[in-house]
Amino acid sequence: MGVANEKIPLTLPFNEKIPLTLPFGYNKIFYIAICTRNGVLRLILTSECFMLRTFRRGTHPPQSKYTKDMPLAEFDAPQILAISLAQHIGAPAKPVVKEGDSVKVGTKIGEANGFVSANVFSSVSGIVKGFKKLPNAVGTKVMHVEIENDFKYDSVSLSPITEPTKENVLERIREAGIVGMGGATFPTHVKLSPTKPVDTLIINGAECEPYITCDYRLMLEKSEEILKGAEYIKTVLGVEKAYIGIENNKKDAIELLKSIAPNDIEIVALKAKYPQGAEKQLIYSITKRIVPTGALPMDVGVVVANVHTAYSVCRAVDNGEPCYMRAMTLSGDGIEKKGNYFVRNGISFEFLYEKVLGSVSPDVTRKVVSGGPMMGFSESNLLPTTTKGTSSLLFLSEKQVNVSKPTQCINCGSCVRGCPMSLNPSKIEAMVLNAHTEKLKEMNPLSCIECGVCSYSCPAKRPLLSAVRLAKKIIKEGGEK
Ligand code: SF4
Ligand code: SF4
Repeated sequence: MGVANEKIPLTLPFNEKIPLTLPFGYNKIFYIAICTRNGVLRLILTSECFMLRTFRRGTHPPQSKYTKDMPLAEFDAPQILAISLAQHIGAPAKPVVKEGDSVKVGTKIGEANGFVSANVFSSVSGIVKGFKKLPNAVGTKVMHVEIENDFKYDSVSLSPITEPTKENVLERIREAGIVGMGGATFPTHVKLSPTKPVDTLIINGAECEPYITCDYRLMLEKSEEILKGAEYIKTVLGVEKAYIGIENNKKDAIELLKSIAPNDIEIVALKAKYPQGAEKQLIYSITKRIVPTGALPMDVGVVVANVHTAYSVCRAVDNGEPCYMRAMTLSGDGIEKKGNYFVRNGISFEFLYEKVLGSVSPDVTRKVVSGGPMMGFSESNLLPTTTKGTSSLLFLSEKQVNVSKPTQCINCGSCVRGCPMSLNPSKIEAMVLNAHTEKLKEMNPLSCIECGVCSYSCPAKRPLLSAVRLAKKIIKEGGEK
């Protein structure tokens, strides 16, 4: 047999993948390989086309993720901090320190007051100055512990866990005061004690709100801890499979996590679309299970936890670190030093603003938003302090906020087409305005997830989200406006 007929194995000295995003949620990956066969250099081009997982409807606000390439840095702390005792959903914590007490970083200063509550810890070392009622980010006055910082940062931690069993990890999560760090602030030990059988854990790395990039930075910089935290949460739930859902506009985070994730954690690329990170939409995108109105994820066998929550769980289990600091994004045209920072709990918004303002004129800021621009809260002053749930603070200029006055509805249907819960926001608004309260229930406003897509999509700038919130209130209060 001559040499020319011999089968010489294919060698691939170079292999390149080129992803291409196509319209309508399709993605195409081209694979280019240069190889030699029978001594001849060949170029091989293949491709694969797939559709990214997603949910129905939604919208595409400009992403404005200006801080995505800014690594997490530790933010300075002021001399006086005011740490809220109500940083979570549920009963505020009971203070367990008194004026004049010395505290360290990690000293418990508030004890969970019941099952649905969470412990609160000092984020600096120093002396307790007293107690003060201050407004939180939504304007409700809550009790805070004032601490004078000695800038020594002496710390205490919980004892290390040598055997991470279901019971040990769950107890550690409770003791460390961990709450839903995506902004929901529901105590994590309660969420991880479902009363119905659960077979799936979803870690939420979607981060679909414009501007916010702290979860993205965590996924890039703390990927090992996030995966370990996900494993610990899996242990608590006793589930075999976990998914980490990440929007496809964070390709490097997807690739990085895919390259190091164990087999029981699947990294899922999701279509970049708002509100991809809302719990019900995320569950549908990944599992195609529908959470009915009034039901919880556990009713369809799922628990969802944020990537930052998984990171905090890992820190608490492996390092004995309680929850007193979090990653957050500071952004908007109203400040110069935009970025992603680890920020201690209890720092006033005013201190944050002064530190990042730089050379920008204070007149530039037209609106301050805590959280994202779609679901966050507008701040009327800078008195609130950072909590476990403060994922971002945005200082938005006139061009970045919608200041136009509402005009007449033109029946364009954009709000209906965009609503991810298939509601009719314009009709709900009309019913609220015309006091047709008896028919409101039929429009199902209680299933609204308050994503703000309707208000955002409305060309007439109707305040639809406010109207739907009011409709929910009317129904809950039995028809009284
Ligand atoms: S009605 Fe509710 S769920 Fe629907 S788009 Fe408006 S805010 Fe979102
Ligand atoms: S989007 Fe605005 S203008 Fe269009 S139907 Fe809805 S409320 Fe009316």
